[in-house]
This record gives sequence, structure tokens and C-alpha cells, in this order.
Amino acid sequence: MARPVRFHTQVKELEAPETYMGEGFGATSLEKVLGLARKNSIWPLPFATSCCGIEFMATMGSHYDLSRFGSERLGFSPRQCDLLMVMGTIAKKMAPIVKQVYLQMAEPRWVMAVGACACSGGIFDSYSVLQGIDQVVPVDVYVPGCPPRPEAIIDGVLRIQDLVHNESTRRRNGEQYKALMESYGIQ
Ligand code: SF4
Repeated sequence: MARPVRFHTQVKELEAPETYMGEGFGATSLEKVLGLARKNSIWPLPFATSCCGIEFMATMGSHYDLSRFGSERLGFSPRQCDLLMVMGTIAKKMAPIVKQVYLQMAEPRWVMAVGACACSGGIFDSYSVLQGIDQVVPVDVYVPGCPPRPEAIIDGVLRIQDLVHNESTRRRNGEQYKALMESYGIQ
């Protein structure tokens, strides 16, 4: 049977009698609770165009099992998702679509560039290929590799989880965030 957790530090700091506080008492902020709930229920939208998307399929399979981290519910409607995962080569003609999908997602939303092509154009230093999706949407986490292994993709999701957990609920209303959006032409 699990032992009850006692938060002695809190009790000492407040100098309140333990009988009043009781066992299992803890203090936290609403933001931390929201962050915990959000980070363990991320709904990714896989925007896969080529080989990195195949690697993502392995990541979702039973061997690597991304569902262990609460992200097994993939969505194909941007309005229901909060993590845009771009995997594969993005042609310049496709760039407006990536942006449109991003705009259709509700705040708060995060973006992960998976693989060299999404991060920087990869080996396709070509007139027709977008040299990184951060030219059209703000990217939170870059996962390098050509293709990145499933472990690297999972590591990227964990880094997104850290961002989600530690983000202030007020950040999206801040001047810095608005300036970032404006730099992408998003009001
Ligand atoms: Fe394919 Fe490599 Fe580009 Fe991924 S980074 S889409 S594996 S060429």
C-alpha cells in the first residue's frame, strides 16, 4: 500500500499544527496544476509529408508507444489539436497550408519541427523547398535528424511537455508573445 505523503516543509513554513493541516496537504499554483493536466494530454496533429512521417508511425507503434506520455490521441482537425508536428519536406507551395493549419489551431498551441527538412530544408537546398518551417510559423522545439529516430521524436515531445508544464497561463497575453506573432504576420 502506498504510504501517505507528508509535506513537512509546508507545515513548518506556515507554523500550523499538523492536526489542522492533516496528511497529504500540499500547496501549489493553479498554473502548475493546469500545466500538469495539459502536458499529459497533448493532442498532436501530424503534418507528415515524407519519410520522417514514416518514422513517426514507428513512434506511435507498440514498441516505442508514444501513448505512454499521454499523446496517443492524434487529431486531424486543427481545431482539436494543440501540438502541430511538421514532419517532412515542405515545398514553398505548401508553406501557406502549414500556416493556415497553424492559424486554425486554438491557443495555446505548440509547434515541433521534426527532422532536418522541417527544421532547415535538410538536403533539399532548392528553389522550391522551404528552408525551415520557422519561416512561416513559430517553432517551439526542433528535432534534428534525417530521419530522427523514434527516441528523438519522443524526446521532442518531452521537451514540449516541459514547455507546456512551465508556461505561464498569462504568457499568451504578453507583449513578447504578441510581438512574436506579429513578426509572423499573425494578429
Ligand atoms: Fe526524409 Fe530526411 Fe527530410 Fe526526414 S529529414 S523528410 S528523412 S529527407
